[in-house]
Amino acid sequence: MLADLILHSKSAVFFGGAGVSTESGIPDFRSESGLYAARRLYGYPPEELLSHHLFKQKPELFFRYYKENLIALDAKPNAAHKALAQLEKRDLLHAVITQNIDGLHQAAGSKNVLELHGSNRRQYCMDCGAKYEPEYILNPANCSDGVIPVCKRCKGIVRPDVVLYEEGLDETVVAAAIHAIASADLLIVGGTSLAVYPAAGLLRYFRGENLVLINKTETAYDGAAQLCIHDAIGKVMGEAIKAME
Ligand code: ZN
Repeated sequence: MLADLILHSKSAVFFGGAGVSTESGIPDFRSESGLYAARRLYGYPPEELLSHHLFKQKPELFFRYYKENLIALDAKPNAAHKALAQLEKRDLLHAVITQNIDGLHQAAGSKNVLELHGSNRRQYCMDCGAKYEPEYILNPANCSDGVIPVCKRCKGIVRPDVVLYEEGLDETVVAAAIHAIASADLLIVGGTSLAVYPAAGLLRYFRGENLVLINKTETAYDGAAQLCIHDAIGKVMGEAIKAME
């Protein structure tokens, strides 16, 4: 059924949330256990630890939490990432829009990836704009007090190219995501309960024929979907690819 919808679509777009990455062993920091661990180990909820004001006021705490929880360089693409990359290769998928920051879609081979919240694979100096690899900021030798990454050119603070709470999304990325969704005839939404900003807002731009929702639990939009699958996204996408062979 999902395979048929994809094969008969002219412009399919995938929109994914944290559930796409949890199957690669990347925990959802917004989940209950993520919330609990953040409070216990860092004294604040994740929304606070990843906020612009905490980054400014307590950069040591921000970088400690960020480095210990949001950079998973060992994580590998799972069946969902691989299936989506294959679909793009076969010209059956126009774009991947993601709320995740782990770069796993690109690692799987996807080219047109719109990262709404930025990427933990990119960091830049806030003063001179020099770009750095994640390994650079993880090395205590490159950090003041062993934790705040410092630019080797100008001594400015090197920050991750991710969107913190209280910060605006990149307008170019948002515009491209809106354009992709608005011109899609098939929108596959996976691994998100659609409760987190800006997911639900972006969905409003979809005017196409078929909306497919894939999520382990129910979402508020299940009733609006032509096809609704409550299962693991990797399994569902993997099976769809197999059904096309
Ligand atoms: Zn610099």
